[in-house]
Amino acid sequence: MCAIVGVFGTENAAQLAYYALFAMQHRGQESTGISSADGKKIHLVKRRGLVTDVFHEGRLKLLKGSCAIGHNRYSTAGKDSVLDAQPVFAKYKLGEISVAHNGNLTNKYEVRDDLIEKGAIFQTEMDTENIVHLIAKSQKNKLKARIKDMLNKIEGAYCLAIQSRSKMFVVRDRFGIRPLSLGKLKNGGYIVASETCAFDLVGAEFVRDVEPGEMLVFEKGKEPQSEMIFESDPHPCAFEYIYFARPDSIIAGKTVYNMRLQMGKQLAKETPAKIDLVLPVPDSGVAAAKGYADGMGVPFEMGIVRNHYVGRTFIEPTQEIRDLKVKLKLSPIKDMIKGKSVAIVDDSLVRGTTSKQIVRMLKDAGAKEVHMRIAAPEIKYPCRYGIDTATSQELISFSKTPEEIAEYIGADSLGFLSIEGLTKSLGDDSNYSLVSFDGNYFAGGNADSPGCSTIR
Ligand code: AMP
Repeated sequence: MCAIVGVFGTENAAQLAYYALFAMQHRGQESTGISSADGKKIHLVKRRGLVTDVFHEGRLKLLKGSCAIGHNRYSTAGKDSVLDAQPVFAKYKLGEISVAHNGNLTNKYEVRDDLIEKGAIFQTEMDTENIVHLIAKSQKNKLKARIKDMLNKIEGAYCLAIQSRSKMFVVRDRFGIRPLSLGKLKNGGYIVASETCAFDLVGAEFVRDVEPGEMLVFEKGKEPQSEMIFESDPHPCAFEYIYFARPDSIIAGKTVYNMRLQMGKQLAKETPAKIDLVLPVPDSGVAAAKGYADGMGVPFEMGIVRNHYVGRTFIEPTQEIRDLKVKLKLSPIKDMIKGKSVAIVDDSLVRGTTSKQIVRMLKDAGAKEVHMRIAAPEIKYPCRYGIDTATSQELISFSKTPEEIAEYIGADSLGFLSIEGLTKSLGDDSNYSLVSFDGNYFAGGNADSPGCSTIR
């Protein structure tokens, strides 16, 4: 999961990176960091915590220079070390380097074991350390050539922002699994970010997506230089549209909110229900529920209130805390629900925890019938390309049919969007990464290979 940003060619680079990371806080809340380069030195601040907690004026002032890269990190199964924060900084033969990575390398342990065999030392479990080591160990005498050497040794999903003391390099894997876009700042500088919502906040103009397989090199006084490192074979991640990205972001030319509306409409076609009312699971199911209500021709109501001061349910690692947190977070408007048959729509179902709690909550509030609708296909396989979706055993659809899950969560019925319905909603114009639904590990790895939060 995670977010990256790179800002180049403007005096307030770190400040803009800070705003961009704030806009992309939803992509990771565990830790955040920014490194800046002033031509002579790289400066780095990274800590556990949210962007607004970690950065204040004093810290941002330390981050001098006209180039900055930054990172928000998603939770990693209970690890709580600042060492896991990014960017990762190192000194090596050619000077100083800093790297921010969004994605997940499927050959992480092969590469790591090989490096360790040859004497490398590691401080964390992060695959980003592999990247730094591979660059440092390359025998080439230019950083760009070293980065290319490194790219030939890594597999899986990656969007990278790499900074030296004077240049910035940005790379996207040939499948373009995770999003990455290029924007232009008003004063002529550039910004690269995981999501376009970052551009809106800093007033940057969207230029284009970074192409799958492309490297962009930013150098003082020059326009960004583009080089195709790998032949492009786009497989944008469907889960970005379903759940992860912010609704106002535009990924591969498509506004995320509109895609969610379409998924909801398609869901209404595929699994209608006899209902009086459609409610979303706030906030994740709002757009899809609106689409479902439109498709069904039934009123849409915000019948469940969300307490915004509780973090996402997934952040806590243990099952007991997860259950409690759903109750802390959501509460029904009883008057609206009593005696009604309702459809409750969420964007996805992972372990079934949220659905089970919500169905019980709605029944306790007096709902006559509760029909659960999920605007995504059944998640049966762990994503190995940067979405943290637990192990197969934890995924309820891995071992249970929709009917069994309906019984488990106590719903009167349960309906999922079909895989065909999903790709149709997204516009059948791309080979989407559907790995969580179809188990097609096209970019390497498999259900047992390391995920983003795997700790050996
Ligand atoms: P669960 O309660 O385990 O079935 O999880 C479903 C809820 O988690 C839904 O409300 C989703 O919006 C949300 N969700 C889905 N995928 C993820 C993910 N990878 N990380 C965090 N939350 C997720």
